[in-house]
Amino acid sequence: MGIWIFDFGSPIKPYLTPLETADVNPSKIPPPKSAISPAPPATGLGYISSTLAVPVSPAEAALRPLSFADFAGQQKTVDRLKIMVGAAKKRGDALNHILFSGPPGLGKTTLAFILGHELGRNVRVTSGPVIEKAGDLAGLLTNLEEGDLLFIDEIHRIPKTVEEYLYSAMEDFRLDIMIDQGPNARSVRLSIPKFTLVGATTRSGLLTAPLRSRFTLQTRLDYYDAATLLGIVRRTCGLLQIGIDDDGAQEIAARARGTPRIANNLVNFVRDYAQEKAQGKITRPVAAAALEMLEIDARGLDEMDKRLLRVLAENYAGGPAGVNTLAVAVGEEPDTLEEVHEPFLILEGYVQRTPQGRMLTPKGYAALGLKAKGGEQGSLL
Ligand code: ADP
Repeated sequence: MGIWIFDFGSPIKPYLTPLETADVNPSKIPPPKSAISPAPPATGLGYISSTLAVPVSPAEAALRPLSFADFAGQQKTVDRLKIMVGAAKKRGDALNHILFSGPPGLGKTTLAFILGHELGRNVRVTSGPVIEKAGDLAGLLTNLEEGDLLFIDEIHRIPKTVEEYLYSAMEDFRLDIMIDQGPNARSVRLSIPKFTLVGATTRSGLLTAPLRSRFTLQTRLDYYDAATLLGIVRRTCGLLQIGIDDDGAQEIAARARGTPRIANNLVNFVRDYAQEKAQGKITRPVAAAALEMLEIDARGLDEMDKRLLRVLAENYAGGPAGVNTLAVAVGEEPDTLEEVHEPFLILEGYVQRTPQGRMLTPKGYAALGLKAKGGEQGSLL
């Protein structure tokens, strides 16, 4: 059981810096006290990483599906969630704690909103790095109402000292705090409403076993297949009343590397391009030309992906090379390489992860117009 030294010098913040306000019932929730934290500066030159690095804009948030019926793909996860929601509703009980993992932009936050909507409960949104002290966590938890959902993005980045308080909060819905020090020190037990913690992480491997084991459902979101992504592109175009033909939608879906958030961003750029260059109508050639302008090729690889492959081929003879070395060589953060670029490059078979480091595969060489190690050399991209 964790004991918390109460710091009267820094009063509990009633509401932490949210990534966005996320209340299904806004009238009940106090407005955020502090400003939205500024977006981290986009590093490197990848369109993909800069798209995924910034918080979701209000325009983008408007595209979020609000019900399971509207949410395409991730069938296994959705089926499991529907069972849990149905059962919790029938029992009139709070939903059990849920952990979503997977690369950015696949719908973890969206699903948290959907859970709130389907249950008719509030969703409070915060993120691991913002919860610096146990007091921050206590402030958040004591402001929840029975059955509310607390969504913690990047939950793997919660400080370890704070994480320990989450254990009793998740399990027994209480926090034990110590007020005062020395002979006057006394422990106070805070009861908190029965809430649901929805955690999201891009790095499930970094989560500690005790925290992970307290989630009843741990579910991983996968990249979307082309057909599902096509449906998402069509839905977005419909909502934004964008004129697009089937081939144009397919071209965008094919280059969105299995990620709805990227698909939506590409739709927006292609719309602007079509307006300026093609009387507003998106066809395959228009979409292709717009995406070439963003340096996203037909396989969905952007400049940073290609730079990574090229560095592996040219500087490290195909590897193995460690992620930190590669990050320095390409001018990107190691975390961004691991969370954003690598999962897709590995899934698509351009790069292999070995205990010694990252290796370029024959497909990776082919993407650069090169023959695999030992083979004849072609022309570079
Ligand atoms: P994550 O939390 O995993 O980074 P988000 O939930 O913020 O991803 O999703 C990013 C955007 O992608 C959302 O604004 C939403 O519009 C869109 N999106 C995600 N998943 C889906 C889906 N299954 N169907 C339609 N749109 C989706």
